[in-house]
Amino acid sequence: MEDWKIERRKSGCTVCGRPFDSEERHLSAIFEADGRFQRRDQCLCCWEKRAEEPFSFWYTVAPKREQRRLEDVAAMVEFFKKLTAQPPQEETRSKVAYLTALLLMRKRRLKAVGSKTRESRAWLVLEKAWDGETVEIVDPPIADPELETLKLEMERLFDLELGQEALLRA
Ligand SMILES: [Zn+2]
Repeated sequence: MEDWKIERRKSGCTVCGRPFDSEERHLSAIFEADGRFQRRDQCLCCWEKRAEEPFSFWYTVAPKREQRRLEDVAAMVEFFKKLTAQPPQEETRSKVAYLTALLLMRKRRLKAVGSKTRESRAWLVLEKAWDGETVEIVDPPIADPELETLKLEMERLFDLELGQEALLRA
């Protein structure tokens, strides 16, 4: 039993592979096999379905991802600046700009201060927290299946996990 070691905490469930959310309550279990201890963190769902009992276990929470989120917001602001630096040329770009704006509104980097109709399109007027100026973006019609696709793209871009509430219209 000299060389047993407890493995470093994994950032996800060792059973289903799903990464833990920030501060997600989960289980840390230590299993013994061949005179060796092995730590296997798992989500509560997988824990319910466990086939073998661990040597010991405890409930814990995943580390808070506050810092990560702040970096993501800065990245999103830069992305939004680029998106809105030129007038919207194509549909996908204005939809992505709109979704980015919704996220930045939640993060209080943008504030909706009005809406208007121009060139027979709906526009949102937003105030930018970083320079106090306003910017106008198209409020595009987005069908639900497309919204899902765009949401996945945004998640991939910024390493986010978007809850349903992120996509509610402001
Ligand atoms: Zn799991």
